[in-house]
Amino acid sequence: MENSRLRKKKRREGDLMAKWRACRNCKALTTDNKCPICGSDDLTYNWEGIVAIIDPLRSQLAKMLGHDKVGMYALRVW
Ligand SMILES: [Zn+2]
Repeated sequence: MENSRLRKKKRREGDLMAKWRACRNCKALTTDNKCPICGSDDLTYNWEGIVAIIDPLRSQLAKMLGHDKVGMYALRVW
């Protein structure tokens, strides 16, 4: 009983993330048909890893990855 409920929940979350695409230009993640950061429509389902940039001016990670806007980004896009 418990197990099947868990599996269902996991599948639902998988479906949810399956709608997210990454921008090939700036790696921002979006469910839209257009990138919210740079406006590009070159989006791909081929991405992995998520990094949330919440304070780009002070974040070393944001500097390292080259992101200067708040948002969700993929770590790798291909
Ligand atoms: Zn973009």
